[in-house]
Formats: sequence, C-alpha cells, structure tokens
Amino acid sequence: MRNLRTGVIGAGHLGRFHAQKYAGCSDFQGLYDTDATRAREVAAELGCRVFPSPQALLSEVDAISVVTPTSTHYGVTREALECQVHCLVEKPFTLDLQEADALIRLAHDQGCVLAVGHIERAQPVMRYLRTQEFGPPRYLEGERLAPFKPRSLDVDVIMDLMIHDLDLVMMLAGCRPRDIRAVGVAAVTAQADMANAWITLENGSVANLAVSRAVREPVRRMRLFWEDRYASVDFLQNRLTFYRRGPGAVPGIPGVVGDVVDLPRTDALEEEIRAFLAAVRGEGEVLCDASAGREALAAALDVRRAVDSFLCPA
Ligand code: NAD
Repeated sequence: MRNLRTGVIGAGHLGRFHAQKYAGCSDFQGLYDTDATRAREVAAELGCRVFPSPQALLSEVDAISVVTPTSTHYGVTREALECQVHCLVEKPFTLDLQEADALIRLAHDQGCVLAVGHIERAQPVMRYLRTQEFGPPRYLEGERLAPFKPRSLDVDVIMDLMIHDLDLVMMLAGCRPRDIRAVGVAAVTAQADMANAWITLENGSVANLAVSRAVREPVRRMRLFWEDRYASVDFLQNRLTFYRRGPGAVPGIPGVVGDVVDLPRTDALEEEIRAFLAAVRGEGEVLCDASAGREALAAALDVRRAVDSFLCPA
C-alpha cells in the first residue's frame, strides 16, 4: 500500500488536529498558513516542515486538507486541484454554489478526489443508524448549541453549525428539502447567531432544527421518530437510546421502554481522514463527497434566504 504524501493548508484551531492525524497515518510533509507564527508553533509541536507558500507545499504532496476560513476555500482548493492534489475541504464546502460547482468540475477534469469535512457522518452513532433498516425517520429534531467563540465568524450560524444537521437529515432521509421555513436573529455578530428551521423533505418527512452559537452550555442532540420507535442521540456523550412502546404500569395505557445501544468510542476526524486517504488510493469511499457537500450548502443557503426574509420582510 503506497504511503501518501500529505499536507495541511490552514493550521488554526482545527487545522492543527488535521495535521496531527495525517502525521499519524501518512507520510506527512508539513503545513502552510498565512500566519507564519501559528504555522511554526504547530510545526514545532509535530516536528514537521513549514512551507513558505502554498505552491511549495503543493509540489511535494499527493493529498491535503484545506482548513482555512470558508471565504478562502474556493481559492485555496482551486490552486491545489490545478496541481492535481486531492483535497479534503472543511465544511462549509464553499461560500456559494457557483464556487462549489466550479470545484466539482475541476476535480473531475483533474481526476482528483474532492471530499468535504462533514465530520458528524463519522460519529459511531451515525454509522450505526446507517446500517439499520428502519427506513427514513418521519420526524427529526436537532439541537446544536455552542458557546460563543471568536472563530468561523466569516459565516453565520447556519453555515457554521446548522449545515452539519442539514447534511445528517438529508443523509438519513435519503432526499432533499422540499420546503423550508426559518427564523434567525443576530445576537452577537452582525449575522444570524441563532436560528430555527422547519424543513419538509421531498419524502414528506419533517425536520425541526435549532442552532445557536451564543449559549453557556454546549448541546448536540438529535431525536428521530419512526412509526414504531424513537431514537435519542447525544453526540457529545456518544449515546444512542431507542424508545418503544412496552407494558405500562396502568392497565390499558402503554409504557415506554428504553434500550441503550453500546457504541464504540472512535476518533471521528481520524476516521474521516483515513477514509479520504483510502479513496485517494482507490481503496474506499470518502465519507462525504463534494456533491453531498454541495447539497448541504444548497440547503443552508435556502435556510439563510428564509431567515433573511424573516429579518427583512419584503
Ligand atoms: P481558525 O481561524 O482557527 O484557523 C484558520 C487558519 O487558517 C488560521 O490559522 C489562518 O491564519 C489560516 N488562513 C487564513 N487564510 C489562509 C489562506 N488563504 N491560506 C492558508 N492559511 C490561511 O479556524 P478553524 O476553527 O480552524 O476553522 C477552519 C475551517 O474549519 C473553517 O472552514 C470552519 O468552518 C471549519 N471547521 C469545521 C468544523 C467541523 O466540525 N467540521 C469545526 C470547526 C471548524
């Protein structure tokens, strides 16, 4: 098996973790960041090289992660693909669909793997649910609430957080949104920092998603309802519990029985990167390909349009 030469562009909060994972499972060459001080700090920790430019890095690698602010994903990824370097781009894929489509075409023309970092797909709970044959959930509730951090502020909370749940909802339902109603408010920044979306999917299922990046305690939960059971997912605790009707204490009134599923503890980022590298070697599939990343972006843009019309009625 060929040991791929890898690199990371953007060595900030998340880029440092990408670099750690590549260093552990590939021939990691090093990193590039426009902030040379930050690049040197991360390189010192990992004992790897700092490249003076993206071009210098791209000439020595087969595959990279793009972990820069979203507004730069298009330019950085285009340059890498033009050098025939395979790319795992952090979410959100790009700022708009024109950029996403241009990168998808370029990756195809260059024969490159192009993956998007929708990491929640790598969570054990999602892997478990995808192997079950319950059919699409009829109703989904998601809550993704985070304390305020001065990062990813080039995008609103829909692109920052809700896009994860939009991706999961479409993956679990196996179809796209048909109708979206949403509200949002700018609590801290000039963009929406809290939002709530009511989404009817093409198959008639409904998802209700709430996000905030301005709360005290983090919450990442999802509840999924089928005809005969419901599942409660806690992403932070890696916990999945199924609830179904059972014998009740009062005759004639059913009770509820909970079954906890024993899930393995895994490293989602490492799984995502290993799947990406396997796809580059032609030995597997990425967890989220560029088309799915584009669909999540399209849904997020639709939610934003609904929020904008709520904030600024025509
Ligand atoms: P960050 O601000 O901590 O890091 C970004 C780094 O990119 C900084 O060090 C900055 O100097 C560098 N940079 C900026 N422009 C650059 C360029 N043109 N070339 C090279 N380096 C450049 O941000 P972060 O939290 O690490 O987020 C980075 C990306 O990861 C964003 O797209 C964000 O949405 C995504 N992200 C995804 C998840 C997830 O759950 N998958 C979580 C956090 C962040």
